[in-house]
Amino acid sequence: MKTTDVRQHNDHGPGPNPEPPFIPFNRPSFVGNELAYISEAIAQGHVSGDGSFTRRCHRWLEERLGVPKALLTTSCTHALEMAALLLDLGEGDEVIVPSFTFVSTANAFAMRGATPVFCDVRPDTLNIDESRIESLITDKTRAVVVVHYAGVACEMDAIAAIAASRGLKVIEDNAHGLFGRYKGIPLGTIGCMATQSFHETKNVTCGEGGALLLNDPRYVDRAEILREKGTKRSQFFRGQVDKYTWVDLGSSYLPSDILAAFLLAQLERAEEIQRKRRLVWDFYHGGLVDWASRSGSRLPIVPEHCEQAYHMFYVLLPTARAREALTEHLERLGIMAVFHYRPLHLAKMGVRYGARPGDCPVAEEVCDRLLRLPLYYGIGDGDVARTIQAVSTFMP
Ligand SMILES: *Cc1c(COP(=O)(O)O)cnc(C)c1O
Repeated sequence: MKTTDVRQHNDHGPGPNPEPPFIPFNRPSFVGNELAYISEAIAQGHVSGDGSFTRRCHRWLEERLGVPKALLTTSCTHALEMAALLLDLGEGDEVIVPSFTFVSTANAFAMRGATPVFCDVRPDTLNIDESRIESLITDKTRAVVVVHYAGVACEMDAIAAIAASRGLKVIEDNAHGLFGRYKGIPLGTIGCMATQSFHETKNVTCGEGGALLLNDPRYVDRAEILREKGTKRSQFFRGQVDKYTWVDLGSSYLPSDILAAFLLAQLERAEEIQRKRRLVWDFYHGGLVDWASRSGSRLPIVPEHCEQAYHMFYVLLPTARAREALTEHLERLGIMAVFHYRPLHLAKMGVRYGARPGDCPVAEEVCDRLLRLPLYYGIGDGDVARTIQAVSTFMP
Protein backbone atom coordinates (compact mmCIF):
# COMPACT_ATOMS: atom_id res chain seq x y z
CA MET A 1 0.00 0.00 0.00
CA LYS A 2 1.31 3.43 -0.90
CA THR A 3 0.67 6.44 1.26
CA THR A 4 -1.55 7.88 -1.47
CA ASP A 5 -3.93 5.00 -0.74
CA VAL A 6 -4.27 6.34 2.75
CA ARG A 7 -5.55 9.59 1.37
CA GLN A 8 -7.98 7.83 -0.94
CA HIS A 9 -9.24 5.97 2.07
CA ASN A 10 -9.97 9.32 3.64
CA ASP A 11 -11.82 10.76 0.65
CA HIS A 12 -15.42 11.65 1.19
CA GLY A 13 -17.64 8.99 -0.31
CA PRO A 14 -20.52 9.84 -2.64
CA GLY A 15 -23.97 10.64 -1.31
CA PRO A 16 -25.48 13.33 0.86
CA ASN A 17 -24.10 14.38 4.24
CA PRO A 18 -20.95 12.33 4.17
CA GLU A 19 -19.58 11.65 7.64
CA PRO A 20 -16.23 13.33 8.01
CA PRO A 21 -13.66 10.57 7.65
CA PHE A 22 -12.22 9.25 10.88
CA ILE A 23 -8.66 10.32 11.66
CA PRO A 24 -6.90 7.62 13.70
CA PHE A 25 -4.18 8.46 16.19
CA ASN A 26 -1.69 6.30 14.35
CA ARG A 27 -1.67 4.34 11.16
CA PRO A 28 1.32 2.20 10.21
CA SER A 29 2.89 3.46 7.04
CA PHE A 30 4.22 1.44 4.18
CA VAL A 31 6.83 3.37 2.33
CA GLY A 32 7.50 1.35 -0.80
CA ASN A 33 9.97 -1.51 -0.85
CA GLU A 34 8.71 -3.60 2.08
CA LEU A 35 7.06 -6.32 -0.01
CA ALA A 36 9.84 -6.41 -2.58
CA TYR A 37 12.47 -6.90 0.12
CA ILE A 38 10.39 -9.55 1.88
CA SER A 39 10.07 -11.43 -1.44
CA GLU A 40 13.83 -11.14 -1.84
CA ALA A 41 14.42 -12.56 1.64
CA ILE A 42 12.15 -15.49 0.83
CA ALA A 43 13.81 -16.02 -2.54
CA GLN A 44 17.21 -16.08 -0.83
CA GLY A 45 15.92 -18.92 1.31
CA HIS A 46 17.14 -17.38 4.57
CA VAL A 47 14.23 -16.31 6.72
CA SER A 48 15.60 -16.98 10.21
CA GLY A 49 17.66 -14.33 12.00
CA ASP A 50 20.89 -12.65 10.95
CA GLY A 51 20.46 -13.04 7.20
CA SER A 52 21.54 -10.46 4.64
CA PHE A 53 18.74 -7.99 5.46
CA THR A 54 19.56 -8.06 9.16
CA ARG A 55 23.22 -7.39 8.31
CA ARG A 56 22.17 -4.49 6.06
CA CYS A 57 20.04 -3.03 8.87
CA HIS A 58 22.98 -3.34 11.28
CA ARG A 59 25.30 -1.59 8.84
CA TRP A 60 22.73 1.12 8.11
CA LEU A 61 22.26 1.92 11.80
CA GLU A 62 25.98 1.77 12.55
CA GLU A 63 26.91 4.08 9.67
CA ARG A 64 24.01 6.45 10.02
CA LEU A 65 24.33 6.90 13.79
CA GLY A 66 28.06 6.29 14.13
CA VAL A 67 27.73 3.46 16.68
CA PRO A 68 30.35 0.70 16.91
CA LYS A 69 27.69 -2.04 16.94
CA ALA A 70 23.96 -2.33 16.29
CA LEU A 71 22.07 -5.57 16.85
CA LEU A 72 18.47 -6.01 15.76
CA THR A 73 16.22 -7.48 18.43
CA THR A 74 12.65 -8.69 18.52
CA SER A 75 11.61 -5.56 20.43
CA CYS A 76 12.87 -2.60 22.42
CA THR A 77 11.71 -4.49 25.50
CA HIS A 78 14.04 -7.35 24.61
CA ALA A 79 16.89 -4.94 23.91
CA LEU A 80 16.35 -3.54 27.42
CA GLU A 81 16.42 -7.08 28.82
CA MET A 82 19.72 -7.60 27.01
CA ALA A 83 21.04 -4.38 28.57
CA ALA A 84 20.14 -5.69 32.04
CA LEU A 85 21.90 -8.99 31.30
CA LEU A 86 24.96 -7.32 29.78
CA LEU A 87 25.43 -5.08 32.80
CA ASP A 88 24.78 -8.00 35.19
CA LEU A 89 22.03 -6.08 36.93
CA GLY A 90 20.07 -8.20 39.36
CA GLU A 91 19.17 -8.90 42.98
CA GLY A 92 20.41 -6.15 45.26
CA ASP A 93 20.96 -3.62 42.48
CA GLU A 94 18.97 -0.43 42.01
CA VAL A 95 18.27 1.15 38.65
CA ILE A 96 16.98 4.71 38.40
CA VAL A 97 14.26 5.16 35.77
CA PRO A 98 11.89 8.02 35.00
CA SER A 99 8.39 7.41 36.33
CA PHE A 100 6.81 8.86 33.20
CA THR A 101 7.70 6.14 30.70
CA PHE A 102 6.61 2.86 29.20
CA VAL A 103 6.48 -0.21 31.47
CA SER A 104 9.45 -1.94 29.79
CA THR A 105 11.92 0.78 30.83
CA ALA A 106 11.57 -0.55 34.39
CA ASN A 107 10.26 -4.07 33.83
CA ALA A 108 13.29 -5.30 31.88
CA PHE A 109 15.47 -4.64 34.94
CA ALA A 110 12.88 -5.83 37.44
CA MET A 111 12.76 -9.12 35.51
CA ARG A 112 16.40 -9.68 36.44
CA GLY A 113 15.67 -9.02 40.10
CA ALA A 114 16.91 -5.42 40.16
CA THR A 115 14.86 -2.75 41.95
CA PRO A 116 13.58 0.15 39.86
CA VAL A 117 13.81 3.50 41.60
CA PHE A 118 11.49 6.09 40.12
CA CYS A 119 12.67 9.60 39.31
CA ASP A 120 10.36 12.51 38.60
CA VAL A 121 10.43 14.34 35.27
CA ARG A 122 11.14 17.93 34.31
CA PRO A 123 8.01 20.05 33.85
CA ASP A 124 9.23 21.37 30.47
CA THR A 125 10.45 18.39 28.41
CA LEU A 126 8.88 15.69 30.64
CA ASN A 127 12.28 13.99 30.61
CA ILE A 128 13.97 12.56 33.70
CA ASP A 129 14.76 15.46 36.02
CA GLU A 130 18.55 15.36 36.27
CA SER A 131 18.48 17.57 39.36
CA ARG A 132 16.65 14.82 41.27
CA ILE A 133 18.87 11.91 40.30
CA GLU A 134 21.58 12.51 42.88
CA SER A 135 19.14 12.30 45.81
CA LEU A 136 17.96 8.85 44.64
CA ILE A 137 21.45 7.33 44.48
CA THR A 138 22.33 4.81 47.20
CA ASP A 139 25.28 2.44 47.50
CA LYS A 140 23.15 -0.09 45.58
CA THR A 141 22.54 2.13 42.55
CA ARG A 142 24.16 0.74 39.41
CA ALA A 143 22.54 2.43 36.43
CA VAL A 144 20.32 5.23 35.19
CA VAL A 145 17.96 4.64 32.30
CA VAL A 146 16.97 7.77 30.42
CA VAL A 147 14.08 8.13 27.98
CA HIS A 148 14.18 10.97 25.47
CA TYR A 149 10.47 11.68 25.75
CA ALA A 150 8.77 12.53 22.47
CA GLY A 151 12.22 12.43 20.87
CA VAL A 152 13.57 15.45 22.76
CA ALA A 153 16.90 14.79 24.47
CA CYS A 154 17.38 14.51 28.22
CA GLU A 155 20.07 16.76 29.75
CA MET A 156 22.81 14.29 28.92
CA ASP A 157 25.84 16.37 30.00
CA ALA A 158 24.51 16.71 33.53
CA ILE A 159 23.40 13.07 33.63
CA ALA A 160 26.75 11.81 32.33
CA ALA A 161 28.58 13.91 34.92
CA ILE A 162 26.50 12.48 37.79
CA ALA A 163 26.93 8.96 36.43
CA ALA A 164 30.69 9.34 36.04
CA SER A 165 31.17 10.76 39.53
CA ARG A 166 29.08 7.99 41.12
CA GLY A 167 30.23 5.10 38.93
CA LEU A 168 26.85 4.48 37.28
CA LYS A 169 26.09 3.22 33.78
CA VAL A 170 23.78 5.26 31.56
CA ILE A 171 21.39 3.40 29.28
CA GLU A 172 19.31 5.30 26.74
CA ASP A 173 15.83 3.93 26.12
CA ASN A 174 15.74 5.66 22.75
CA ALA A 175 12.39 4.30 21.57
CA HIS A 176 11.19 7.84 20.76
CA GLY A 177 14.48 9.43 19.87
CA LEU A 178 15.87 7.81 16.73
CA PHE A 179 17.38 10.61 14.56
CA GLY A 180 17.12 13.16 17.38
CA ARG A 181 20.29 14.90 18.57
CA TYR A 182 21.67 16.40 21.76
CA LYS A 183 24.16 19.22 21.11
CA GLY A 184 24.65 17.71 17.67
CA ILE A 185 25.25 14.15 18.93
CA PRO A 186 22.80 11.48 17.74
CA LEU A 187 20.56 10.12 20.50
CA GLY A 188 21.33 6.49 21.17
CA THR A 189 25.08 7.08 20.97
CA ILE A 190 25.61 8.81 24.32
CA GLY A 191 25.00 6.14 26.97
CA CYS A 192 27.11 2.99 27.16
CA MET A 193 24.24 1.35 25.33
CA ALA A 194 20.86 2.31 23.90
CA THR A 195 17.69 0.58 22.83
CA GLN A 196 15.46 1.30 19.83
CA SER A 197 11.91 0.25 19.08
CA PHE A 198 10.52 -0.52 15.65
CA HIS A 199 7.02 -1.15 16.96
CA GLU A 200 4.15 -0.07 14.71
CA THR A 201 3.72 3.14 16.72
CA LYS A 202 7.30 4.35 16.26
CA ASN A 203 8.72 6.55 13.49
CA VAL A 204 10.36 3.64 11.64
CA THR A 205 8.74 0.26 12.03
CA CYS A 206 8.61 -3.41 11.11
CA GLY A 207 5.52 -4.14 13.20
CA GLU A 208 7.36 -5.53 16.21
CA GLY A 209 11.11 -5.06 16.46
CA GLY A 210 13.95 -3.27 18.13
CA ALA A 211 17.68 -2.84 18.32
CA LEU A 212 20.43 -2.70 20.88
CA LEU A 213 23.09 -0.08 20.14
CA LEU A 214 26.45 -0.72 21.79
CA ASN A 215 28.61 2.35 22.18
CA ASP A 216 31.27 0.49 24.10
CA PRO A 217 32.86 -2.21 21.92
CA ARG A 218 33.71 -4.23 25.03
CA TYR A 219 30.07 -5.35 25.20
CA VAL A 220 29.87 -6.65 21.64
CA ASP A 221 31.04 -10.25 22.03
CA ARG A 222 28.87 -10.95 25.04
CA ALA A 223 25.85 -9.20 23.51
CA GLU A 224 26.06 -11.55 20.52
CA ILE A 225 26.14 -14.52 22.89
CA LEU A 226 23.18 -13.34 24.99
CA ARG A 227 21.18 -12.73 21.81
CA GLU A 228 21.90 -16.27 20.55
CA LYS A 229 20.67 -18.33 23.49
CA GLY A 230 23.91 -18.09 25.46
CA THR A 231 26.03 -19.54 22.67
CA LYS A 232 28.73 -18.34 20.28
CA ARG A 233 26.46 -19.17 17.34
CA SER A 234 27.12 -15.74 15.78
CA GLN A 235 30.88 -16.34 15.78
CA PHE A 236 30.33 -19.90 14.53
CA PHE A 237 28.41 -18.68 11.48
CA ARG A 238 31.22 -16.22 10.73
CA GLY A 239 33.70 -19.09 10.90
CA GLN A 240 35.44 -17.64 13.96
CA VAL A 241 34.85 -20.70 16.17
CA ASP A 242 34.45 -24.30 15.07
CA LYS A 243 31.63 -25.24 17.41
CA TYR A 244 29.12 -23.58 19.66
CA THR A 245 27.88 -24.68 23.06
CA TRP A 246 26.25 -23.17 26.12
CA VAL A 247 28.64 -20.54 27.52
CA ASP A 248 26.46 -17.88 29.16
CA LEU A 249 22.91 -16.83 29.94
CA GLY A 250 20.86 -15.83 26.97
CA SER A 251 17.66 -16.02 25.05
CA SER A 252 16.44 -15.75 21.48
CA TYR A 253 16.44 -12.04 20.80
CA LEU A 254 17.04 -11.96 17.06
CA PRO A 255 14.22 -11.22 14.62
CA SER A 256 13.48 -13.10 11.41
CA ASP A 257 15.19 -11.74 8.29
CA ILE A 258 11.67 -11.19 6.91
CA LEU A 259 11.15 -8.48 9.53
CA ALA A 260 14.61 -7.09 8.84
CA ALA A 261 13.67 -6.89 5.14
CA PHE A 262 10.60 -4.84 6.05
CA LEU A 263 12.69 -2.68 8.36
CA LEU A 264 15.42 -2.00 5.82
CA ALA A 265 12.82 -0.66 3.40
CA GLN A 266 11.72 1.78 6.10
CA LEU A 267 15.23 2.74 7.18
CA GLU A 268 16.14 3.54 3.60
CA ARG A 269 13.25 6.01 3.52
CA ALA A 270 13.94 7.40 6.97
CA GLU A 271 14.81 10.86 5.70
CA GLU A 272 11.51 11.15 3.92
CA ILE A 273 9.61 9.77 6.92
CA GLN A 274 11.31 12.31 9.19
CA ARG A 275 10.72 15.17 6.73
CA LYS A 276 7.03 14.37 6.64
CA ARG A 277 6.74 14.04 10.42
CA ARG A 278 8.54 17.35 10.83
CA LEU A 279 6.10 19.07 8.45
CA VAL A 280 3.13 17.72 10.39
CA TRP A 281 4.70 18.67 13.73
CA ASP A 282 5.49 22.20 12.54
CA PHE A 283 2.00 22.52 11.05
CA TYR A 284 0.47 21.59 14.45
CA HIS A 285 2.78 23.90 16.34
CA GLY A 286 2.20 26.90 14.10
CA GLY A 287 -1.53 26.26 13.98
CA LEU A 288 -2.00 25.88 17.72
CA VAL A 289 0.29 28.51 19.25
CA ASP A 290 -2.46 31.13 19.56
CA TRP A 291 -5.00 28.61 20.80
CA ALA A 292 -2.56 27.40 23.44
CA SER A 293 -2.09 30.85 24.93
CA ARG A 294 -5.80 31.63 24.76
CA SER A 295 -6.76 28.35 26.43
CA GLY A 296 -4.04 28.22 29.07
CA SER A 297 -2.57 25.11 27.43
CA ARG A 298 1.00 24.55 26.46
CA LEU A 299 2.68 22.93 23.48
CA PRO A 300 5.84 20.80 23.55
CA ILE A 301 9.05 22.58 24.56
CA VAL A 302 12.18 21.76 22.57
CA PRO A 303 15.33 23.32 24.07
CA GLU A 304 17.67 25.14 21.68
CA HIS A 305 20.40 22.51 21.99
CA CYS A 306 18.08 19.61 21.09
CA GLU A 307 17.19 18.50 17.60
CA GLN A 308 14.05 16.54 18.19
CA ALA A 309 13.01 13.31 16.47
CA TYR A 310 9.44 14.40 15.66
CA HIS A 311 8.01 11.37 17.37
CA MET A 312 5.01 12.99 18.98
CA PHE A 313 2.88 16.13 19.15
CA TYR A 314 1.14 16.66 22.46
CA VAL A 315 -0.78 19.43 24.15
CA LEU A 316 -0.85 19.97 27.91
CA LEU A 317 -4.29 21.18 28.91
CA PRO A 318 -4.77 23.36 32.01
CA THR A 319 -6.71 20.67 33.88
CA ALA A 320 -7.57 16.97 33.77
CA ARG A 321 -11.20 17.89 33.08
CA ALA A 322 -10.17 20.02 30.12
CA ARG A 323 -8.18 17.05 28.76
CA GLU A 324 -11.23 14.79 29.03
CA ALA A 325 -13.44 17.43 27.41
CA LEU A 326 -11.03 18.00 24.50
CA THR A 327 -10.69 14.23 23.97
CA GLU A 328 -14.49 13.94 23.71
CA HIS A 329 -14.77 17.05 21.54
CA LEU A 330 -12.26 15.58 19.09
CA GLU A 331 -13.93 12.18 19.19
CA ARG A 332 -17.25 13.77 18.23
CA LEU A 333 -15.45 15.32 15.25
CA GLY A 334 -14.01 11.96 14.21
CA ILE A 335 -10.49 12.57 15.49
CA MET A 336 -8.73 10.19 17.81
CA ALA A 337 -6.41 11.82 20.34
CA VAL A 338 -4.94 9.78 23.16
CA PHE A 339 -3.37 10.29 26.56
CA HIS A 340 -0.08 8.65 27.44
CA TYR A 341 1.78 6.98 30.32
CA ARG A 342 0.40 6.42 33.78
CA PRO A 343 3.33 7.09 36.11
CA LEU A 344 5.06 3.82 36.93
CA HIS A 345 5.51 4.67 40.60
CA LEU A 346 1.72 4.83 41.05
CA ALA A 347 1.15 1.51 39.29
CA LYS A 348 0.51 -1.70 41.24
CA MET A 349 4.05 -2.87 40.51
CA GLY A 350 5.58 0.51 41.34
CA VAL A 351 3.94 0.40 44.74
CA ARG A 352 5.31 -3.09 45.27
CA TYR A 353 8.79 -1.56 44.94
CA GLY A 354 7.96 0.87 47.71
CA ALA A 355 6.93 3.88 45.65
CA ARG A 356 4.27 6.22 47.03
CA PRO A 357 1.95 8.90 45.70
CA GLY A 358 3.79 12.20 45.95
CA ASP A 359 7.17 10.66 45.05
CA CYS A 360 7.06 12.15 41.53
CA PRO A 361 4.74 15.16 41.70
CA VAL A 362 5.38 16.41 38.16
CA ALA A 363 4.67 13.03 36.54
CA GLU A 364 1.53 12.68 38.69
CA GLU A 365 0.31 16.07 37.62
CA VAL A 366 1.09 16.15 33.88
CA CYS A 367 -0.15 12.64 33.12
CA ASP A 368 -3.77 13.74 33.52
CA ARG A 369 -3.38 16.81 31.32
CA LEU A 370 -1.45 15.47 28.36
CA LEU A 371 -3.14 14.64 25.06
CA ARG A 372 -1.38 13.39 21.92
CA LEU A 373 -2.66 14.37 18.48
CA PRO A 374 -2.61 12.15 15.36
CA LEU A 375 0.87 12.07 13.82
CA TYR A 376 1.95 9.52 11.28
CA TYR A 377 3.72 9.40 7.93
CA GLY A 378 0.58 8.88 5.87
CA ILE A 379 -1.58 11.59 7.45
CA GLY A 380 -2.95 14.01 4.88
CA ASP A 381 -2.49 17.79 5.15
CA GLY A 382 -6.27 18.12 5.21
CA ASP A 383 -6.48 15.84 8.23
CA VAL A 384 -3.88 17.88 10.09
CA ALA A 385 -5.71 21.10 9.19
CA ARG A 386 -8.99 19.58 10.36
CA THR A 387 -7.39 18.51 13.65
CA ILE A 388 -5.94 21.99 14.21
CA GLN A 389 -9.34 23.50 13.42
CA ALA A 390 -11.07 21.07 15.81
CA VAL A 391 -8.67 21.81 18.67
CA SER A 392 -8.90 25.55 18.01
CA THR A 393 -12.68 25.53 18.43
CA PHE A 394 -12.33 24.03 21.90
CA MET A 395 -12.16 26.25 24.96
CA PRO A 396 -11.75 24.65 28.37
C1 LIG B 1 7.57 1.71 22.65
C2 LIG B 1 8.46 1.84 23.82
C3 LIG B 1 9.10 0.75 24.40
C4 LIG B 1 8.81 -0.67 24.01
O1 LIG B 1 9.03 -0.94 22.70
P1 LIG B 1 8.73 -2.41 22.13
O2 LIG B 1 9.51 -2.44 20.86
O3 LIG B 1 7.25 -2.47 21.91
O4 LIG B 1 9.19 -3.39 23.13
C5 LIG B 1 9.99 0.96 25.43
N1 LIG B 1 10.23 2.20 25.89
C6 LIG B 1 9.62 3.29 25.38
C7 LIG B 1 9.96 4.64 25.91
C8 LIG B 1 8.70 3.14 24.34
O5 LIG B 1 8.07 4.22 23.86
